[in-house]
Amino acid sequence: IHQLANQHVAAEDLLVSPLWRAEEAALPKPIEIYGHLHGELRLNSQGMDMTYIAERSPALEAALALRVQTPEEIQVEDVDPLMHALHAGQTRWDAVPVERRAEILTQAADLLEARQDKLLALIMREAHKTLADAVAELREAVDFCRYYAIQAKALMRKEALPGPTGETNSLSLRGRGVFVCISPWNFPLAIFAGQVVAALVTGNSVAAKPAEQTMAIARAFVELLWEAGVPRDVLALMPGAGETVGAALVGHPLTGGVVFTGSTGVARHIHQDLAAKEGPIVPLIAETGGINAMIVDSTALAEQVVDAVVASAFRSAGQRCSALRLLCVQEECAEEILTMLKGAMQELVIGPTIHYATDVGPVIDAEAQTNILAQIARVEQGGGRLLARCAWPPALLENAQVTDNSVALTMQDDQQRNLYFVAPCAYAITHVSQVREEIFGPVLQVVTWKAGQVDALVDAINALGFGLTLGVQTRIDGRAAHIAARSRCGNVYVNRNMIGAVVGVQPFGGEGLSGTGPKAGGPHYLLRMVAEQAVSINT
Ligand code: GLU
Repeated sequence: IHQLANQHVAAEDLLVSPLWRAEEAALPKPIEIYGHLHGELRLNSQGMDMTYIAERSPALEAALALRVQTPEEIQVEDVDPLMHALHAGQTRWDAVPVERRAEILTQAADLLEARQDKLLALIMREAHKTLADAVAELREAVDFCRYYAIQAKALMRKEALPGPTGETNSLSLRGRGVFVCISPWNFPLAIFAGQVVAALVTGNSVAAKPAEQTMAIARAFVELLWEAGVPRDVLALMPGAGETVGAALVGHPLTGGVVFTGSTGVARHIHQDLAAKEGPIVPLIAETGGINAMIVDSTALAEQVVDAVVASAFRSAGQRCSALRLLCVQEECAEEILTMLKGAMQELVIGPTIHYATDVGPVIDAEAQTNILAQIARVEQGGGRLLARCAWPPALLENAQVTDNSVALTMQDDQQRNLYFVAPCAYAITHVSQVREEIFGPVLQVVTWKAGQVDALVDAINALGFGLTLGVQTRIDGRAAHIAARSRCGNVYVNRNMIGAVVGVQPFGGEGLSGTGPKAGGPHYLLRMVAEQAVSINT
């Protein structure tokens, strides 16, 4: 099953890219996958100019051998002069025709593709992603550039409005000013790029504050945008700690808007700081976490369920806000599904992500490992019963430190950098309401439910307060639509996994504790970044 799951996941991820290369190209032509052997994966796009090739190429090898060079952090005192420069630059940038700004984004997409080896290696080294995850992330960044370029051109045309004789009315859109973009380490290229290029193409200048853990990837992308034609006084990289540099940016009087992806707690702080700051009242786009559930009924296809659960809960070591946290299985099929799930989990290969056979890499850092372990302990204290835990491969145990109960392992990689692992695990709990917090790691909780109680189950999931992703596995006609209508989740995935939203295809983002909207990679995102002006002329 796991072998099949692997092939399915890898192929699917690469297949669905819509390739926003040509404005009129609605869908890609069929794509042929050939060669999937121990992580070697190659695509032939049959005529599409497609360069997402993940293979162990000499160029990727060479890039992987390099050490990650982390940029120097800026100081809080640097923030004010940089913000003034960005504020001045924005006026000129906003006057540049949207077609030219869009062209620069398209050029950036081309450069991302041309530099893929270096960028994939950086993502694998700095963010500890597997090659498959790094490829998916690069593809998403490319798609953001092409998609928002197309969206901006359509959106920002000056529109003539009706009016009485002797009067002309029009509506035009323009940038709001300096946008502060604060991005997370779990999608250090894709989310960073999505935030930054959306703000730029709509005529804003950008203060880009990446996560401290992944500043080298952020720098590579900022340099690429400068090279593509974004002026330096329109885009500044602001590497530094959230508590200092991030707070100074949010609180700055010249800040015209904030885009934030990260925890719900930090989003609340930003909201408060924005309310208290001097200067204009500005919008916040926050995309935060989720306690995401999958509802499985007794008609679901067991193999498909297990495939989707493994990918959704454990891929990227569970470090996605979209990841599955709570599996809700109907009693009648629970035994079958959980037996298969345990089997599939034993097949997962844990290890450094530069090894191509690795399915689950380390978590981002020591602090993440410590937090996840504390959260697992709380699940156990709350009555959670261990159902399954992945075993450490013998090769990993040599020279590694393992905690007594085998939940965590720490080792050094080939560049003597520490890697912090958490073993993927699943716990049985008795009720949905027992889940108190999002665990940002490879930890799954499982509940069973009785026939006839699906509405109560959806209500209990809604009552958790988050609203990001929901999985549904059923073959009953109309049930998925019924559940989606009752659910308060922003992204509902039926009979498939629930991660890896594709730009323009599955606009991504939630409600409630999961964020403010609008959805990233969707048709309404750019609207939040513009100011609107209506002009009425008495002719
Ligand atoms: N967009 C990603 C996905 O669909 C998740 C983004 C995040 O983790 O913040 O899997």
